[in-house]
Amino acid sequence: MQLHCPALDRFVPDGTAFDAAAARTTHLGIGAHPDDLEIIAIPGILAAYASADAWFTGVVACDGAGSPRNGRYADLSDSEMAATRREEQRQAAALGRYGLQLQLGFSSAEARSADLVDCLAAVLLACRPGTLFLHNLADAHATHRALARSTLSALRQLPEDAWPGAVYGVEVWRSLDWLPERHRVALPIEDPTGLQAQLLRCHDSQVKGGKRYDTAILARQQANATLTESHGVDNMAACLLAMDLAPLLENAELDADRFLADCLETFRADLGL
Ligand SMILES: [Zn+2]
Repeated sequence: MQLHCPALDRFVPDGTAFDAAAARTTHLGIGAHPDDLEIIAIPGILAAYASADAWFTGVVACDGAGSPRNGRYADLSDSEMAATRREEQRQAAALGRYGLQLQLGFSSAEARSADLVDCLAAVLLACRPGTLFLHNLADAHATHRALARSTLSALRQLPEDAWPGAVYGVEVWRSLDWLPERHRVALPIEDPTGLQAQLLRCHDSQVKGGKRYDTAILARQQANATLTESHGVDNMAACLLAMDLAPLLENAELDADRFLADCLETFRADLGL
């Protein structure tokens, strides 16, 4: 796999050769910042952790240099912050036994760039995942939305035999409980060893730096399991909500703007507007 990225960091925790590590991928996550994978792609991370036949590859597109900081991280420069976060992502990859961890090193301003789209297309072609986790198109964070669109652009460059079987745009900033049912998927989280909280705590500069993702994300997942469906009893302990984005791959006529417009129209109708 040839990747032309500004500051590519590749890490194979078990030491397998790079191309072989990419080729064994079953679950792929593409997140904007260090720590996003441990939120949006946790079903894939947990599935691979529990199975000898499944492998998770994580891609972090941007360097996270502009993140908020506090405590012992308060005085770090942007480049020191990026280096700290890169190392934290490597720690998560090692702890979670990821098959491959790629950090592409783009800035947030480049999240919609053609270079990033080309890079993502090369990764998707080399990894050919069965299940793909990315950000959703209605996330409140502009970089997350931009990366979701770049990922969809990259997917559309692929030959049909390289398409993932499932494409999930997962919630981070802004929940997806408003999303019309036909576009919404609940992804169960089965985490008997409590791995997700440990992975989130690898991102010490964020968690100790003032953002308690290690408790907030788990609480959201538990709340989703109870509050998403008002008429049935809880049938899972925790879940993430995601946009089913596979139709954008399968239907060349359907673009992101039309998809979102349809979601909002259905939501308006649900409110009787
Ligand atoms: Zn992020």
